[in-house]
This record gives sequence, C-alpha cells and structure tokens, in this order.
Amino acid sequence: MFAPHHAVAARPDLPHRVGPDATALVVGGGIAGVSAALVLAERGVRVELLEAAPHLGGRLGTWDRRLPDGSEVVVEHGYHGFFRQYYNLRDVLRRLDPDLGFLRDVGGYPIASRPSVGWESEDFTALPRTPLLNLVALVLRSPSFKLRELRHVDADEALAMLRYDPVRTFAEHDHRSAAELLDGLGFSDRGRAMLFEVFAHSFFNLEQRYSAAEFLAMCHFYFTANPEGLGMDAPDDDYRTTLWEPFTRLLEKHGATVTTGARAVSLRPDGARGWAVDVEGEPARHARHLVVATDVPATRDLIAASPELVAAAPGLARRISALPGGEPYVVTRLFCEGDVDPGRAVFTGVTRERVLDSVTLFHRLEGASARWARDRGGSVVELHSYACPPGESVDELVVAMREELAALWPEAADLRVLHAESHRYANAPGFDPGYHLVRPGVLTDARGLRLAGDWVASDVPSALMERATVTALTAVNDVLREEGAAPEPIRSIRPRGVLAPRT
Ligand SMILES: Cc1cc2nc3c(=O)[nH]c(=O)nc-3n(C[C@H](O)[C@H](O)[C@H](O)COP(=O)(O)OP(=O)(O)OC[C@H]3O[C@@H](n4cnc5c(N)ncnc54)[C@H](O)[C@@H]3O)c2cc1C
Repeated sequence: MFAPHHAVAARPDLPHRVGPDATALVVGGGIAGVSAALVLAERGVRVELLEAAPHLGGRLGTWDRRLPDGSEVVVEHGYHGFFRQYYNLRDVLRRLDPDLGFLRDVGGYPIASRPSVGWESEDFTALPRTPLLNLVALVLRSPSFKLRELRHVDADEALAMLRYDPVRTFAEHDHRSAAELLDGLGFSDRGRAMLFEVFAHSFFNLEQRYSAAEFLAMCHFYFTANPEGLGMDAPDDDYRTTLWEPFTRLLEKHGATVTTGARAVSLRPDGARGWAVDVEGEPARHARHLVVATDVPATRDLIAASPELVAAAPGLARRISALPGGEPYVVTRLFCEGDVDPGRAVFTGVTRERVLDSVTLFHRLEGASARWARDRGGSVVELHSYACPPGESVDELVVAMREELAALWPEAADLRVLHAESHRYANAPGFDPGYHLVRPGVLTDARGLRLAGDWVASDVPSALMERATVTALTAVNDVLREEGAAPEPIRSIRPRGVLAPRT
C-alpha cells in the first residue's frame, strides 16, 4: 500500500539520447538547476549552467572563511536533512556514489523545550516506519499527548491528514491557515507545540501565514504516507567536498559548461532559435530550451526585467509577481571553545522559543568541523531561526538565539565563541493561504521556458530539496519529450492519503 511508485515510468521503447543539435540553458545552480543540467547533459543535450554566485549550491552553497585563530574553514548556509523518501534527489545523488556512502544517519533528533517549561522531549525517530502504525505508536508513547485527550480531538480535522488529495485538499483547505487547522484539531497546547509547530517552522513559514492545505501536504509527505520513516541522513563532510565539486566534475564529463559568476539579467524569446538569456557583463546566450531554476525573489526580478517575455507570457508574469515570499530566516554557525554535553543529539528541534528553532552540532556530524573542533577541544554549533521576527538586526537575533540556547542547555552558557558566521536571508518560498492556484508549475505559458525549484507547484508529493529535484526532472522530461527521447523516471510515495475519497 505504501510502496514507492513511478509518477513517470521509464520508456525503453524511446531513444535514451536526443539528437545532435539539442541545446539548453539552465539558469540557477542550486539543487534544481544542477539536477536539470546533469540529466539533460547525460541525455546528450548541450547544456550551459549559469549561476550568479561564485559557486554552485544555492541554499547549500559553501564559502571559505579565515577564523580569528588563523584556521581556514568551509562554511555553508546551514544544516540540511536528507530524508529517505527523497527518492528523486537520492537518484540524482547516486550519480556521485551509487551507495550514497557520503550520507550518514543523523540518529535520533529530539524536539525539546527549555527545562523550565517542564515538557519532556519528543523524539520521532524510533517509530515504526509503516504509516498509520507510526501514528498509533506515536499516540501511545508520546509524552506530549495523553490518550484521554483524544476525546477533545476533532476527528474530521485529524482525518484530513489521512485524506490528503492533491486537488481536493487544496480546494477545501487552501483558504485557511495551518494555525486555524491546528486550533480546530483540539490538541493540548503542549501536544501542538511538540508535534506540529516545529514542523510548520521547518518550512520557513509561521503557522498563521502557512496554508492549511500545504501543511496537510507536508504531513502526508513526511509522515502519514511515507514508508521510510522520519529518519534523516546528512553529508559526512562539507557540501563543497561531498556535492558541488563532484557534481561539477560530472557535469563537465558529460559535456556541460558550468559558468559561475554569471548573473542572468533578462530572458527573451528568440524566434526559431528558442531563447536568449542576457548575462551581466557578458555576451547573451542562446539555446532551444530554457530551464529557470532561481529562487522566488530572483525569478520575480528576472521576469520583471524581461519585457519581451512578459508580453509573450503575461500569465506567468502575473503569477510570479503575485507570489508571496517566505519568512526571513537567520543561520549562525558558532566556532567555540568548549563543548556541550556528550549526550546532546546532532540535531535538535526547538519549540516555543521566540527565535531559536534548531541546534545542530556540526563537529559531531561532518569531517571538516570535527577536525577543527578536535584540534582545539572545541565545538561547531549551528543555530537556526526559520521564521525570525522582523525589525531586529542579525546581531540582536544571534544574541537572542544564544540566550535561548543557554536556557535550553545550561552548559551552552559556558561556550566561548571564537567566531560567529551569521547571516539573514529572505529567499525561502512562502506558502500563504489562498495562493495555490496562483503558484506556477513547471510548464509556463512561455513555450520552451520551464521553471524548477522548491517553490514550483507539483502534484508529486515533495518538499524542499526533493521538490527542487522533482520539478527539475519534470522540466527535463518536457525537453526530452520535445526532442523525442525517453523521459527520466520520477518516483513518488503514494500520491493520495489512505483515506482519501475515491472521487
Ligand atoms: C538553513 C536552511 C536549512 C534547510 N534545511 C533543509 C532540510 O533539512 N531539508 C530539505 O529538504 N531542505 C532544507 N532546506 C531547503 C533547501 O535548501 C531548498 O529547498 C533547496 O536548496 C532549494 O533548491 P533550489 O535549487 O530550488 O533553489 P536555490 O538553492 O535557492 O538555488 C537557486 C540558485 O539560483 C541562483 N540565481 C539566482 N538569481 C540568479 C540569476 N539572475 N542568474 C543566475 N543564477 C541566479 C542562486 O544564486 C542560487 O544558486 C533548508 C534551507 C535552508 C536555508
């Protein structure tokens, strides 16, 4: 019942490779752009990948930093959990290593609140992997939930999670917020904080501004229909070493051109030739096919600066300009003298703090941080605020996060921070109520221009990095279809909930 199935099946009857004159431009070198460029290049499409930053990776990009102690470290945008139901992302990663040997099990990850609140931590990891059994086990063992509370739970609201349907759920729930859905559920305050709020924040959205339908889709993808369980893996070294350098070598091996430091400034239909991309300070590029794999603010700017595209595809332009952005978020990586208790988990979700949403102990996760910490008896601790309050400076937010960490783990107050690498970003997608019908999908009214990224609509259950990959493969398949080649298979968990009505 929960076995993965093919949303797009292989077509061995069709040619694997395209003809000799197929060309494509991919704009944006995050997970989506790299996945699209790689699979297109494997199929014989002549691809150029244009990335504005000096490096590939997007929100998993890396950069060098010299610390005050003179050491050179590689810093990243933040911890990422590679869940096991990310079938398509994993298929792309298997091109680097068929055994995915660079991913390691992160182990149990608790959801915790400060001791003064008096709530025992919650841990989702050792649950049975079979959906529904996992729910039963969670209800039975969860310290945040008492069986007698079940009579207060609104069965209709709770069953919406098991009735997920990509059309009906959005028709019925997209107009209201996840907060309204959670209010209606009737869970205790503690149950709600421990079981749901951290989850909503992980998508860079506050539950008051997060569509209830999107929230239900995430419950379906991560919990109620996912046969792999909630365990997650993460690369055992920095993303440059494990992902971006190997991907660049592989792209080049397949004949793709990877151009970093190349910012696309406008997109133009180019008659019979397909598409032209104007690049800042460089000659324009031309290709038959175009995949735009930039984040929401960048895509909005790019399209606003492309009058010929707007004239050719007014629907796309309207949809993009209407799309909301996500909450701003802050990531700080602290290079410290001293360490926290040995029993602390590699990744901890934090609930009911004003700012702090998660803590990752990088020195217990990845090689480079472990080496840095070992040499100094130190630690590398990363703090995330996924939806941080507006109007406060990054420095103020980092101070607040550190205070909240010390309230959560008292020994953290003794860490001496040698360097804090802190950044605030505003490039996460927003999933506000009422925008489902506005959200563009991969195919646009500009023929030959496809969108890919974690903000692009897809009927294949997916989110975040997996959504970026699924939409990239969907874009690739549209190119392959036009070129008469076989599609790239796309795998999926079951698309509808176990109790979804038949019609
Ligand atoms: C702190 C943090 C933690 C996260 N944790 C998780 C997690 O645990 N699990 C998970 O699945 N996901 C997680 N995510 C989400 C994940 O990072 C994203 O879903 C994913 O990286 C999106 O990839 P993308 O390719 O769609 O977009 P991006 O990575 O944003 O890539 C877009 C690229 O386009 C480039 N670009 C923009 N404008 C232009 C232009 N004009 N010309 C050329 N290039 C341009 C950008 O520089 C960027 O490289 C996390 C994100 C953050 C920030």
